[in-house]
Amino acid sequence: MADLDVIHKAITTCEDCDLCQERTNAVPGEGSAHAEIMFVGEGPGLNEDLQGRPFIGAAGKFLTQMLGSIGLRREDVFITNMVKCRPPDNRDPLPAEMAACAHYLDDQIAEIAPKIIVPLGRHALARWFPGEAIGKVRAQPKLVDGITLFPLYHPAAALHNGGLRSTIEEDFAKLGALLANLGGNASLTQSPTPVASEPAPEPLLAPEPREVVVAPEQEPEQTIEPSSQQLNMF
Ligand code: URA
Repeated sequence: MADLDVIHKAITTCEDCDLCQERTNAVPGEGSAHAEIMFVGEGPGLNEDLQGRPFIGAAGKFLTQMLGSIGLRREDVFITNMVKCRPPDNRDPLPAEMAACAHYLDDQIAEIAPKIIVPLGRHALARWFPGEAIGKVRAQPKLVDGITLFPLYHPAAALHNGGLRSTIEEDFAKLGALLANLGGNASLTQSPTPVASEPAPEPLLAPEPREVVVAPEQEPEQTIEPSSQQLNMF
């Protein structure tokens, strides 16, 4: 098995699908090579493409905050995506693009050997549970090939619908409890950060879960209540 550096080097020069043509940087993922918990998002957005790092925009800040709420830092976990290059205009990754990229995620999982994988949102969910709705299966642990899968809403869901923020906070608390039950507290290197002290993320109008760059004048005055179908977007 190739080590993580070798896998990540291959990702930065990958030309397995057309996403390579418009990328600024590939985004292999980052965190601990010995992480007990791995988070898998959808694909890089604009900020991630520019910097070559996953989840560094508004959704990423919320993810980092949620990690803090259960006593984890980004460097304690491993964070990656289904596709390692940004889909143009932040469109959804195509099934063919996810299929072409899947072997990198397989290799990362094999190398890191996490106890828990957290698919963030419906695209990552579909890798393990095709046809399932994220709103239905979220925060329910399921053992798959010896790894506990614990799907959660994509953190951008809280940016689109402020009402989901408390659901995501509760789900993360369950994740913290699961980690403790699995004896995973080796990763707990700091005290949980109280979430109440952090400002709530602003709800956004745009339906794109990855995009985090929104002009202030585009932000709505109030939270939009999504339909159950919209909730399953995340
Ligand atoms: N959303 C994702 O799914 N992945 C990122 O890296 C950033 C935002």
